[in-house]
Amino acid sequence: MRELELLSHIYRSNPKLPPGVTIPPGDDMGAVSIGGVSVLVTVDQLADGVHFDIAYTSIEKIGRKAITRNLSDVAAMAARPVGAVAAACLPRGFGEANAKALFDAMHATANSYDCPLIGGDISVWDQKLILTVTVFAESDGVEPVLRSGATVGDTVYVTGQLGGSLTTIENPMGYTHHLDFTPRIGLARVLASNTDTRPHAMIDLSDGLGLDLTRVCEQSGVCARINTGQLPISPAAGIAARTSGRPAWQHAMSDGEDYELCFTASASLPRQIDGVSITPIGTIIEQQAGPRVLIKLPDGTRVDTADLGWEHTG
Ligand SMILES: [Mg+2]
Repeated sequence: MRELELLSHIYRSNPKLPPGVTIPPGDDMGAVSIGGVSVLVTVDQLADGVHFDIAYTSIEKIGRKAITRNLSDVAAMAARPVGAVAAACLPRGFGEANAKALFDAMHATANSYDCPLIGGDISVWDQKLILTVTVFAESDGVEPVLRSGATVGDTVYVTGQLGGSLTTIENPMGYTHHLDFTPRIGLARVLASNTDTRPHAMIDLSDGLGLDLTRVCEQSGVCARINTGQLPISPAAGIAARTSGRPAWQHAMSDGEDYELCFTASASLPRQIDGVSITPIGTIIEQQAGPRVLIKLPDGTRVDTADLGWEHTG
């Protein structure tokens, strides 16, 4: 079963959820009302061989990513993190020094985002390292931005640069963005707290722009047209393109693990906030048959995206 099919199966039961669920499944974080206050929650898993390769990655960077990956979801809601819990399955023979270094890195990263690690669980098994982190967040005066608000006529924006994030091992530059990225929490809250700049819909780019923007479009009942000539393509995407033989824009839209934000807004936004670039890359258009995300090359050619793996659930 494809991930999107499984997720839409889960979303179908959303209408049956009790009223205490203030943000149902289908967004970067869910939320429940606790004592009349909406508390946002996200959980993410980091697995050796899937999200990093322990043979090439320091323990410190693995611990950091386990936290920042969740914090990128907090940014996608324009929320403020308040605390985290972590569970680890350690491979037998991992060693006490490594275990301490791992939890020290998680603690230090969480603290640096005012998101203290307040509990967890450890087990030892015969498989590879798996880390599971849950982060809680609050709106703290800024209404969360959902995926469902994209409106026809909106401009589609992304922060930072896209693509090549996972080329770590074969990448001669040693580019390790998927480990070193900064969750865009501050930028998201600046944008969302100002009615002139507030995004209508937002998501963080974990699975690649093509697939993640498809999710925004599905939740919003719209389509998007992207102009590849406007994409902020990272130098690493250029390197990946030379190896793969595919155009760099495909890497920018498909590689994933960018952990930048993609959002839609009707306003004309500043080109950067706190040194982070904000780039307009396309437009939200009315829903139509076929793929949710349409691609236009600089010469005006429309691209058939059927084979690019951006799942469409109809
Ligand atoms: Mg996300």
